[in-house]
Amino acid sequence: MKSFDYAAPTSLAEASALLAHANGQARILAGGTDLLVQLREHLREADLVVDVKRIPELMELSFTPEQGLRLGASVPCYRIYEHAEVSAAYPALAEAARIVGGWQIQSRASVGGNLCNSSPAGDTIAPLIALGASCTVVGPEGTRQVAAEEFCVSPGKNVLRRGELLSTIVFPPPAKSGGSAYERFIPRNEMDIAVAAAGSWVELDPSGKTIKNARVAITAVAPTPRFAAEASQWLAGKPATEETFAQAGELAKKVASPITDMRGTQEFRVHLVGVLTKRTLAKAVERARG
Ligand SMILES: Cc1cc2nc3c(=O)[nH]c(=O)nc-3n(C[C@H](O)[C@H](O)[C@H](O)COP(=O)(O)OP(=O)(O)OC[C@H]3O[C@@H](n4cnc5c(N)ncnc54)[C@H](O)[C@@H]3O)c2cc1C
Repeated sequence: MKSFDYAAPTSLAEASALLAHANGQARILAGGTDLLVQLREHLREADLVVDVKRIPELMELSFTPEQGLRLGASVPCYRIYEHAEVSAAYPALAEAARIVGGWQIQSRASVGGNLCNSSPAGDTIAPLIALGASCTVVGPEGTRQVAAEEFCVSPGKNVLRRGELLSTIVFPPPAKSGGSAYERFIPRNEMDIAVAAAGSWVELDPSGKTIKNARVAITAVAPTPRFAAEASQWLAGKPATEETFAQAGELAKKVASPITDMRGTQEFRVHLVGVLTKRTLAKAVERARG
């Protein structure tokens, strides 16, 4: 690994200034489970590594049913699924956090790092989109909010500009009759990258029989994670039945544009989008009914 300078700022302003004024390539370090592998294998280079884990905002995890969840970008995955209230309020997020690598990885890896690595197959990204999360980005020109579905722009690339970092991911308060679910398809039971994945969120009307609102996201089937906008809008007002979930799966397929590689063909991945959308919607509805 090429040698680099290391800094561990304790405030957002200090981190942003270091990133903005660095000579050469500056890289942010959270859990390091992507970055250190990339540096070691020369897939990325760094002249300065900025460790952001001493910045209080990035390690914050605060939840109330009224305010929702504020998740600091560097909070490791285990803190999410071990938090009983957060797991109950946002099951899709907890499900994804629980399958990022194994236990050792989950004790370091963050949702912010997963999003900023911007892999089309990042496991936590579909839940972020389905749950309507908003990303707080801090930089030399101040703070801006970016919707989770707009964050990634191409494989490994995102909306962050020079000097900017992701500070916090903000989740809306859980709906009273709401539920969510995340599922991925992998050839093995664990420790693999998704061949295709889907995350769904639903809110039911008071009867529990009709979908009031829904959001569906799919990953690993396009250059970036995708919000299935048409499927999501179509679901509003529909009966919460297997036929509806299957039809939404057909609509979700429209935003998939996968590649064929050794892990799956285009056709197989598109098929999986339908299956996983249907399954996650069914599970989300079951959870919404309590
Ligand atoms: C053995 C193994 C198994 C894995 N399994 C999975 C898996 O099943 N599913 C999956 O999705 N991923 C998996 N990964 C990849 C990785 O663990 C995840 O992507 C993880 O969530 C990255 O988080 P991190 O905190 O370690 O990020 P880091 O490696 O620290 O950072 C990742 C990238 O994001 C940037 N970054 C980090 N924080 C910020 C910030 N606040 N603002 C701006 N940029 C930032 C970094 O500069 C870097 O480019 C695996 C990795 C390993 C080594």
